[in-house]
Order: sequence, then C-alpha cells, then structure tokens
Amino acid sequence: MTDPIIAERVNAFVAGLGGIDAVRELSQVEILGARYDAGLAWVHHPEGLGGYDGDQTDQALVEAALIEAGVPEPDPFRNPLGTGTIIPTLLQHSPRELCEQLFKRAWTGEEIWCQLFSEPGAGSDLAGLGCRAVPETRNGVEGWRVNGQKVWTSYAHRAKWGLLLTRSHPELPKNQGITVFVIDMEQDGVDARPLRQATGGAEFNEVFLNDAWVPDSQRVGEVCDGWNVTRTTLMHERMAIGGRSDGREAGRIGVLAKRWRENPDLHTPAMTDRVVGAWIDVEVARIANERIRQLAKRGQPGLEGSGAKVVFADVNQNAARVLARIDPTQTLLFDDWQDELQSSELRCSSFSYLRSRANSIEGGTTEILLSQIADRVLKLPREYSIARDTPWKDIPR
Ligand SMILES: Cc1cc2nc3c(=O)[nH]c(=O)nc-3n(C[C@H](O)[C@H](O)[C@H](O)COP(=O)(O)OP(=O)(O)OC[C@H]3O[C@@H](n4cnc5c(N)ncnc54)[C@H](O)[C@@H]3O)c2cc1C
Repeated sequence: MTDPIIAERVNAFVAGLGGIDAVRELSQVEILGARYDAGLAWVHHPEGLGGYDGDQTDQALVEAALIEAGVPEPDPFRNPLGTGTIIPTLLQHSPRELCEQLFKRAWTGEEIWCQLFSEPGAGSDLAGLGCRAVPETRNGVEGWRVNGQKVWTSYAHRAKWGLLLTRSHPELPKNQGITVFVIDMEQDGVDARPLRQATGGAEFNEVFLNDAWVPDSQRVGEVCDGWNVTRTTLMHERMAIGGRSDGREAGRIGVLAKRWRENPDLHTPAMTDRVVGAWIDVEVARIANERIRQLAKRGQPGLEGSGAKVVFADVNQNAARVLARIDPTQTLLFDDWQDELQSSELRCSSFSYLRSRANSIEGGTTEILLSQIADRVLKLPREYSIARDTPWKDIPR
C-alpha cells in the first residue's frame, strides 16, 4: 500500500503539471525535469538538488507511487554512470554551487557523464594512475593542465562531463597524491576513441588528454584527497552494478524462465535443474540486495556493495550461460553493431552471453573484491605491497 504522505506529494506533483493526461503529453526530459524541481528525483538529496531531504528508502516508494499515478517510467539507462555513481560522489564531496550547476541535466539525461578512472597501467591497481595534472592559470582563471591516457571509459564518446582522477603530486605515495576533477569532455584536448567489444558494441573508449584544462572550481574534494573521493565512487558503483532493484523474474532470468516454460522439450531433468538452480540463485541475490538497501544509511553503501557485486556477476553470468544452452540457435545470431544508451542486455542471447563476461571485470574484478572482503570484513592478513609508502614517482613501472 502506498505511503499516504508520499502519495500526497506525488498527487500534488501530477496536479501541478495539469493532471495525468497533461503529464503523458510531456517528453521524458520534461517529466524528469519537473520531478527534479519538485524534489522527486533523488529523494534523499537536500531541497533544491532534486530531493526533499527524505529517507533513502523512500525512493522505491516514490517510484511506485509515480507508476501508480500513471507517470511514465524513465529509461534507467539514460545516464547510468551519472545517476548511479557520479552524482552521489559530487553530493558528498563538492560545493553546493557545483552540484546546482550539474545535477539537473545529469538526472534528465540531457548531459551524459563518464568516469575517467582506469588507465593502460592502472586498472586493479587504480591508485597507481599516472594522468598528470599541474596547476595552470588560463585567461586569469586558476586551474589545472591535464595530460595522460584513460581506457575502458564507458560512454566517453557521448559524454559532456567526466569525473577525472589525476596524479597531482607524484612525490607523495600513490594513494596520497591523487586529485579529482569534473572535466568538460567537449573541449579541445580531449579525444575519445571508441573501442569495439566482443559483443560487437562499442560502449567504452580510450581517451587521450592532451593539454586539456579544468578550472579549480571544478575540483572535487581537496587537493590530494582524491583517493577518498574515489572510494566513494567505487562503493556506489559496486552497489549500482550489484545491488540493482529489478523485480522477481525481471531481466535475463525472466527471459530464461519464460523460454523454459514455453518449451516442453526443455523439461528434461538436467535442463530443469540448471534453469531452477539459476532462478533460485538470482532470487536469493535479489532478496539479499533488498535487505542491503534497507540497511543502507542515506546513500552511502559500504563493503556490502562489493559482496553484492561479486554475487551479481556470478549469478548473472550463470543465467546467461544457461540461456545460451537452452537457446543455441539464438545464441549463434549476432545483433547489429549499434550501441545505444538503452537496456541492451536482452537484445539476443549471444549479446547477453558475451556482455555478461564483463560483469566480473567492470567496477572492480571479482578477485580484487574478494581480496577486499577477506582483508576488511574477515580481517585476514593484508597482501604485502611494496608501494604503500613509496613516493609514486619512485615506484618501478
Ligand atoms: C564493460 C566495462 C566497462 C568499464 N567501464 C569503465 C569506465 O567507465 N571507467 C573506467 O575507469 N574503467 C572502466 N572499466 C575498467 C575496469 O574498471 C577495469 O577493467 C578493472 O578495474 C580491471 O582492470 P584491468 O582491466 O586493468 O585489469 P588488471 O588490473 O590488469 O587485471 C587483470 C587480471 O589480474 C587480476 N588481478 C590484478 N591484480 C590482482 C591482485 N592484486 N590480486 C588478485 N588478482 C589480481 C584481475 O582480477 C584480473 O583478472 C570498464 C571495464 C569493463 C569490462
């Protein structure tokens, strides 16, 4: 049953736009813009930044109330990194003016965001990154000149903004000399080149930064506090990937269950065992994630997000594998080479299978996340690292 206070907010929102028929005439951007202005975007945000200072757990209730009122659902993939990981980071680490400037168009999807973290020499060992930022005043404005290369940068070819990790102080140990900025991706000096993936799509890029520039007003957090900022983004990223709130039998497992139900030839003991096993694993993960979300304190997930991400990768890859087995003809059919910002995972089982391989890599590999859990949750001895106290510039590479 809908919470009466939330229902009242939603009804007032719909009435303010002239009633549900008028709302249905609006574009997605217009509806989302109105939601932002009414505090019905990220409800736990402060007023004026898309929220009403509500509880994190109100979000699902608001979404449900909007659907019940007949408001069209937005595309969840309109700006996945912006809405899933970067905005929560900026909320925690940026001044209010920067948030006011950027949040609304990120929410509506008018401005796409990317995450410029990984480099050819810094993936799992992200703190070893080398993209250099040096102070440089341009046209009387204090800022930073940036040179370096990033890789695997999802959506960089469409992005207006990027969250950029730089090495500002090479003389400090690797975790201590990092500074984070919001960079304008449309400037000269930023070159995003799409990389073709095994799926045929090209959702990520290599990005070359060649004398690019960012004003100091777009710095996120303090100078040299970038690792702290980065950890916030990574926690949110793992929760966004692993802790998704799809309903029962949503997505890939729904397709799998439907195909199995509709095809009696598949009802052999061996295939039934595989399908039911995959279904149970996905369902257990879904219920566990629901519990994690209820425990999450005001949008700041902890290491439970890493656990959720490890489990998600495993169950999703298994579901894709079983789908490929029950649907071998489909699996051999390749999709076209388009890559739109949309829910593409159900396009065909070959795409689905190939894309699922990335689940245990993107957002931190399963090996690295298991090590983190061993180290920080189970308190097992930490991996020895020679580089922890060595100035970054002296680390052999
Ligand atoms: C679909 C997709 C989208 C992505 N999008 C983005 C993006 O938008 N922005 C961005 O910055 N990055 C992005 N990435 C990059 C991703 O974060 C990295 O690929 C990932 O962190 C691993 O880094 P790497 O590829 O350099 O592998 P490496 O770090 O070279 O690791 C190679 C292998 O060695 C293992 N390994 C490495 N170190 C250890 C260790 N200490 N202990 C045990 N095993 C270890 C790893 O688990 C892995 O299996 C994306 C990746 C994918 C697949």
